[in-house]
Amino acid sequence: MAMLPFDIFEQIINRESPADIVHENLEYIAFRDINPKAQTHILVVPKAPGLITGWDVHEDNIEVFGGLFLFAKKVAEKENLDGYKLHMNVGEAGGQVVPRVHLHLLSSDYESEL
Ligand code: AMP
Repeated sequence: MAMLPFDIFEQIINRESPADIVHENLEYIAFRDINPKAQTHILVVPKAPGLITGWDVHEDNIEVFGGLFLFAKKVAEKENLDGYKLHMNVGEAGGQVVPRVHLHLLSSDYESEL
């Protein structure tokens, strides 16, 4: 599937689009995936502008990406998960559809092919 031409997650951050938000702070937001692939399937998204894909990680923004993992852990704790899986599609060729950096946080019933 091609990358969408607009950032629906930006609209969720700005409350212009509805979402089931589970956790939020000044820098990150987490909400339930509209098409869940596991019992728990949450998208974890940085609010910083200009981060479209994982290719956009650089030395000067590495803290945003590190913070994304920390925030994901807090979400997993809040969801009382014993363990969890993190998945990031990077770029259209990597299966990414929404043009904004995000982690998929999935419960252990997620059937990945890894
Ligand atoms: P990706 O392929 O990594 O870009 O994944 C995008 C994910 O966003 C998919 O799992 C979609 O189901 C999910 N998604 C798309 N629109 C929404 C929405 N409005 N609210 C929640 N999840 C969404």
